[in-house]
Amino acid sequence: MRYWATIIFLTLSLSGFAQKKKANVKSQSVGTVRKGELKNGVRLPYKSGNFSYFSPFSYGVLRRAYVNSKVYRTVIEAYQICEKTCPNQKFRVMECSRKHGGKMKPHRTHQNGTSVDFMTPLKKKDKQFRFYDHLGIWHYLMAFDKSGRMKGTRKVKIDYETMAKHIIALDDASKKEGLRIKKVIFKIELQAGLFKTKYGKELKRRGIYFVRALPKIIDNLHDEHYHVDFEEVGKVVANH
Ligand SMILES: [Zn+2]
Repeated sequence: MRYWATIIFLTLSLSGFAQKKKANVKSQSVGTVRKGELKNGVRLPYKSGNFSYFSPFSYGVLRRAYVNSKVYRTVIEAYQICEKTCPNQKFRVMECSRKHGGKMKPHRTHQNGTSVDFMTPLKKKDKQFRFYDHLGIWHYLMAFDKSGRMKGTRKVKIDYETMAKHIIALDDASKKEGLRIKKVIFKIELQAGLFKTKYGKELKRRGIYFVRALPKIIDNLHDEHYHVDFEEVGKVVANH
């Protein structure tokens, strides 16, 4: 019994130590999200508090959960804010960047540790719906109609209010790190549904930039997840 207690204690202390260490790391994002690299990237935890990463394969084999240290702290802090604004809600992070950045197919961006995909929260009869959270990388293939209902299972729909609260939390958390949300990519025909909600209106008020023109193939992919790019405040970087 004491043996196990010691092992558990050591594991927890080590993971606590690892988290603390990550909190002090300084990463460097080089180039752009389309052509860039990541130096000293940090990997988001697979599971912590109210969130987890969406695919063990993407996390452990493809190793795509790395971000810039400032983005790391922003993502973690935002979920802590969500503990209060969306109690009992479970969130999932999807693909980020590789350890040293660079090309990461099929994404056209995600190259320098400043891009993060977030799983769109769903609900069914006003209750959080997480059945499809376990699809792993196949989750990217899910599709929704323009009213935000899942194709084939119309009772399941996008929880725009929770999604907006999460993006507001990201906006607040990013400021503490000297970052800001550079842009959000979310299917254009679904944006009206998001901005109609109480917290969606707050997104508008804050002027958080949602991309309004996208190639069809990219637009169609961004319904079951939304993509967020962060940038340093005051840093002017070419978009391409
Ligand atoms: Zn993305």
